[in-house]
Amino acid sequence: MEIAIVGAGIVGVATAYELACDGHQVTVYEQRSAAAEEASFASSGLLAPSLLIPWASPAIGMHASNLLWGRQPAFRMARGAGLGEYRWLRKWRKAGRAPSALATLQALEKLGQFSLERTLKLVELFQVDIEPSQGTLVLLRHKNDVKRTLPATEVMTEAGHALTEVDADGARLIEPGLSVDVPLTGALYASKGEAANCRLFAQVLRYAAQEHGVKFRFNAQVKGVTTQPTGLQIAGEPAPRRADAVVLCAGLASAALLRSHGVNLPMAPVYGYTISAPLREDTHAPQGTVIDPQHRITISRQGMRVRVSGGAELGYGGGEHHADTLQKLFLALSGWFPGGVQLSSSQVQILRGARPTLPDGAPVIGASGTPGIWLNAGHGASGWALACGSARALADRIAQAAPSVELDAFGVNRF
Ligand SMILES: Cc1cc2nc3c(=O)[nH]c(=O)nc-3n(C[C@H](O)[C@H](O)[C@H](O)COP(=O)(O)OP(=O)(O)OC[C@H]3O[C@@H](n4cnc5c(N)ncnc54)[C@H](O)[C@@H]3O)c2cc1C
Repeated sequence: MEIAIVGAGIVGVATAYELACDGHQVTVYEQRSAAAEEASFASSGLLAPSLLIPWASPAIGMHASNLLWGRQPAFRMARGAGLGEYRWLRKWRKAGRAPSALATLQALEKLGQFSLERTLKLVELFQVDIEPSQGTLVLLRHKNDVKRTLPATEVMTEAGHALTEVDADGARLIEPGLSVDVPLTGALYASKGEAANCRLFAQVLRYAAQEHGVKFRFNAQVKGVTTQPTGLQIAGEPAPRRADAVVLCAGLASAALLRSHGVNLPMAPVYGYTISAPLREDTHAPQGTVIDPQHRITISRQGMRVRVSGGAELGYGGGEHHADTLQKLFLALSGWFPGGVQLSSSQVQILRGARPTLPDGAPVIGASGTPGIWLNAGHGASGWALACGSARALADRIAQAAPSVELDAFGVNRF
């Protein structure tokens, strides 16, 4: 088939690669001038365990924190946020308490596992260095902090993940650079945790896809998707381009492109920040990934750099950076791992990115309900961790083969 893909983030590039491997003729349309320039640029890099990524699902940590009010609100409303954002937040809260929440977590766990296997297989196949690091440490500051990670940790343990509880000394043996001033009662440790550079892998995958015949059309903004015949309207072109099928991997824009076909996906941008700083002293820096579930902050090692991520904002707020959130992230970087990074370097990079999020935290993968149009979008806080598995599963669906992983929880009809 001739397949048009909208979006060259990590999800679009992975989808293009898998579809080309299945023998399809694939063209990717991307409005930016390169791959992975939007959300996929900002990822903090955590690949596994995917359920531990802060904001992976509304069912995780719901009891432990007040979402908008209280001393440490989990979400903040950016300037100009309105009723739409409050309504979406209500849906997020509701989804976290819904009877289906546990089944969604279990489905996300399976997709995460499958995706990790697929990602590692591709890394081995391409023989590339994508700045990997191993081990994920979840800091427990208070006795009841373990509740903040429930029920994700229960689902993971049931699924056979090795999650070890260690005391504060044990945590500092795993991460020797972790400051003694960080108050700790202990930590949860996933020795098989993985992190790597999402953007770098997207670029590798783009070239691998090109070798399989995929064409990339950059600076091509898709204005609309057509049916009868199936195709795309590109900005500035007189007529739609035809294709046998269209796959929307355009993150947030996927929902907008489907709206005119009567499909309403409640997808919202949940903005977060990533600060990357060059390494100063290896032994003072994180060796793997460290997560603070209380502040929902992640610090991960990526080659010669360290990345800290956090914050959850609803509303664009004119694209302005929130000074308090950034200060918290800088403090985490300098306070948790003193001397680990060069914060005064001109190479310190700050990014604000949007996690394209559906109320239950899970993506939509499969038929869109509009003939000829498929979806692989809305991966929220865990798009890097889920991209390669989602892409393979969607390619199986398009080939009418049994998908390599169960997709029932990711259908468009659940909304
Ligand atoms: C601060 C932060 C930290 C994160 N940390 C992690 C993490 O540790 N682990 C993890 O797994 N995930 C993480 N994520 C989430 C992850 O980055 C996203 O889920 C993932 O990048 C989404 O990929 P995507 O390809 O769907 O979207 P994107 O990367 O946004 O790609 C969509 C592409 O579509 C293009 N596009 C949009 N509209 C059009 C149009 N009309 N025409 C043509 N092209 C169009 C865009 O330009 C863009 O390139 C994080 C996100 C943020 C913001």
